[in-house]
Amino acid sequence: MHNVVIIGSGCAGLTAAIYAARANLKPLVLDGHEPGGQLSLTTHVENYPGFPDGIMGPELIENMRKQAQKFGAEFKAGAVTEVDVTRRPFRITAGKDSYETQALIVAAGASARLLGLKGEKELIGHGVSTCATCDGYFFRGKPIAVVGGGDSAMEESNFLSRYASKVHLIHRRNEFRASKIMIDRAKANQKIEFVTPFVVEEILAPNGSVEGARLRNVETKETRILDLHGIFVTIGHDPNSTVFKGKLEMDSNGYLLAKHGSLTNIPGVFVAGDVQDHRYRQAVTAAGSGCMAAMDAEKFLEEHKG
Ligand code: NAP
Repeated sequence: MHNVVIIGSGCAGLTAAIYAARANLKPLVLDGHEPGGQLSLTTHVENYPGFPDGIMGPELIENMRKQAQKFGAEFKAGAVTEVDVTRRPFRITAGKDSYETQALIVAAGASARLLGLKGEKELIGHGVSTCATCDGYFFRGKPIAVVGGGDSAMEESNFLSRYASKVHLIHRRNEFRASKIMIDRAKANQKIEFVTPFVVEEILAPNGSVEGARLRNVETKETRILDLHGIFVTIGHDPNSTVFKGKLEMDSNGYLLAKHGSLTNIPGVFVAGDVQDHRYRQAVTAAGSGCMAAMDAEKFLEEHKG
């Protein structure tokens, strides 16, 4: 029997773990299917307070993990497959393992979206990627594409230009959702070519790995073939909330609803980070909400002792 189980080991989950551990609650953190969350898939983080020269995402996450462990947080690998929050103690199943807990913090994050093209999923690891940090190195001296028009697309394009011979930044509109500073940085980069307003119609991989893409101009209907070795899909994320369908309140996109801080419709279940935030989605806001969830869980346990 645990006091607190935390689902997710990204910025929100680890901050909740630090706070819950320091409150002597000995939290159990279930790593999830992407241990470390999105920060572990990113490069240079320049906007997390306290690091004037920036810090690499994986290093920031590793530091948080160590900090939580130092105060007694326990970690288990595995993704949650089933939850029963109908009564306390809550029951969490992750594959063959199951856990009982008095309080639950859901910090399951959000996962990268795919374009939904034929063969796209199967080509992950064979030229299709959602993680520039993980895979950029494989495309040294090769032409690649980045799809998307948000900050991630700009950031990934810049990062990938270190390796790739050329980065085609493909976006379906002529306007960008990304912030001006990020767009300006990408535009100033000689290796990045903006390809708009285009969508990828087909990933060309006749021999089992990406060799190109067929694009279509959404205004003129012109099609164009690009020779590519890699396609990085950076078109946003979906919340990892499937196991909570029908159990916790969520919006139409699957983001869990938090009220009065981190509270959900089930007393004793709290939410933090990107699984409940489609608006800010920053490391620092995720960390802040993880802190709130741990404090709310601590208060709840105090009030429901015995
Ligand atoms: P985002 O802001 O939601 O942008 C997603 C982009 O993908 C949009 O341009 C969207 O096009 C496009 N898109 C979505 N579905 C598509 C589809 N099926 N086909 C083609 N294009 C599609 O996502 P994000 O860039 O991942 O950023 C998420 C959040 O993290 C934002 O708040 C961002 O500011 C933040 N972030 C910050 C930094 C930083 O400050 N260093 C870095 C990365 C991310 P439309 O615009 O046409 O909808």
